[in-house]
Amino acid sequence: MSSKILLIFLFGLSLRAGAEECSLVHTVPIRLVNEAAVPPRILTAAQREAAYILKSLCVDLEWHSELGTDAIEMRITPAPIGPDIPQGALGITFLDPTSTNRGTVFFSRVRALGRTYGRLVTLPGLLGCVLAHEIGHLLLGSRTHSREGIMIPNFERAELLKAGQRGLLFTRENREMFLNSQVGRGSIPMPTYCSAQNNKEHCRKS
Ligand SMILES: [Zn+2]
Repeated sequence: MSSKILLIFLFGLSLRAGAEECSLVHTVPIRLVNEAAVPPRILTAAQREAAYILKSLCVDLEWHSELGTDAIEMRITPAPIGPDIPQGALGITFLDPTSTNRGTVFFSRVRALGRTYGRLVTLPGLLGCVLAHEIGHLLLGSRTHSREGIMIPNFERAELLKAGQRGLLFTRENREMFLNSQVGRGSIPMPTYCSAQNNKEHCRKS
């Protein structure tokens, strides 16, 4: 009984600490294209997990599925989309100043890793982490990785254990980088590819 009370108390504290670090929360629209036909139950839980993780970057994700919205595009493909994808990569981010920034997650690889570490993290939990990682690259406008947290280059056992405990999040350094990025500085939330230099036509391309 007493341990339950302690756990609830600690959880309450961590929520409050997270909220205090966000003086401003950015709403970011994401258009999710489910090309891998991930079952709705898994996809919905993964979206919920990704949204939870993005809160640690002071971001409120807004999911869209329809074309024509000014949203960052994230695809889930059945398998890696080309021969140049490094072995073990779970996803890829395209940061192209002349085109549309977008991210892709490879479902077959996420599922394979999820099978190996199924005792540590659920498949929706892992898929949510990979989505959050690629969205992180898009919002930070960078392919660089961190030494800890959700932006670590490789998800190994320790990270998957943390992921299963909902502890694989963005770090304070990630938050500072985001607040200095184009999206983070904008008073109006907008996808990274809709910068001030890009015209409206370009931004509306899907
Ligand atoms: Zn990465």
